[in-house]
Amino acid sequence: MNYRHAFHAGNFADVFKHICLILVIESLLAKEKPFCYIDTHAGIGKYDLTSIQAKKTGEFAAGIGTLMAIKGKKPTEIKHYLQIVKSMNKENSLKYYPGSPRIVRALLRPEDKMILTELHPADYQLLKEEFKYDPQVGVHLQNGYQGLKAFLPPTPRRGVVLIDPPYEDKNEFDEIIKSLQMALMRWQGIYLIWYPVKNRIQINQFERNLKKLSLKNLLICELNLFPDDAPFALNGSGMVIVNPPWKLQEKLNEVLPQLLNILDSENRGNYRLESFTSKM
Ligand code: SAM
Repeated sequence: MNYRHAFHAGNFADVFKHICLILVIESLLAKEKPFCYIDTHAGIGKYDLTSIQAKKTGEFAAGIGTLMAIKGKKPTEIKHYLQIVKSMNKENSLKYYPGSPRIVRALLRPEDKMILTELHPADYQLLKEEFKYDPQVGVHLQNGYQGLKAFLPPTPRRGVVLIDPPYEDKNEFDEIIKSLQMALMRWQGIYLIWYPVKNRIQINQFERNLKKLSLKNLLICELNLFPDDAPFALNGSGMVIVNPPWKLQEKLNEVLPQLLNILDSENRGNYRLESFTSKM
């Protein structure tokens, strides 16, 4: 396990991922019933953008750095996201970036729950420290896919799972399909699956495999800063949403072009938003 998210926190892929996540959580908050959030690959929860790791890549500059720096009107759909980032920082500064656990924690009500799994022992320690004494948060040193077996169906029964692996393993897409199939048999909740846009052939295969799972509703969206044939480590950021909440597609349809407009400094990008419904 070489991947450490501290090198990439707050980059354009994180911005897109975390905005999708917040839009889903907001839809759960629209009803009084409590919910459970499960983060299979949780990371450390909070990132210092002045750390050696973050400075080494400087990736956050083209992500959260760009978004925070724009003057004037920002997309209304990302209001919560910007508020959460700002709440972690002193006025007009950007030192800390919240990972997915911190973002969701900022939105939980007292009756909601959060389960986090992280496999890297050092990152697990930091995550555990971040949420110590928090009775609403369970932190586990565990393989996230195995965690799904242990924690599904969750209590409360409503909720969302974020699957956000590092894709170090060449079989990661297959592992996701296998785990999702098992998870859906236990619980028909909302599943968010992040993927890197690097290799379109692999993504197409992943989508074909997803569609074989007889999902009732599926949304696939991407924010791509570069075309598929660009020679970069990451051309875009993708998200699969299984059982998407009502109106999510409309919200994404509004926010994605605005986000692209802000982050696509070279004018080479595009976005994608497709919905699939099975004829079961
Ligand atoms: N979800 C986090 C966020 O948005 O802030 C970022 C997660 S990062 C992309 C992936 C994390 O998964 C890393 O911290 C890595 O150590 C961890 N990891 C890798 N393989 C894992 C596994 N099988 N189970 C749980 N965690 C894993």
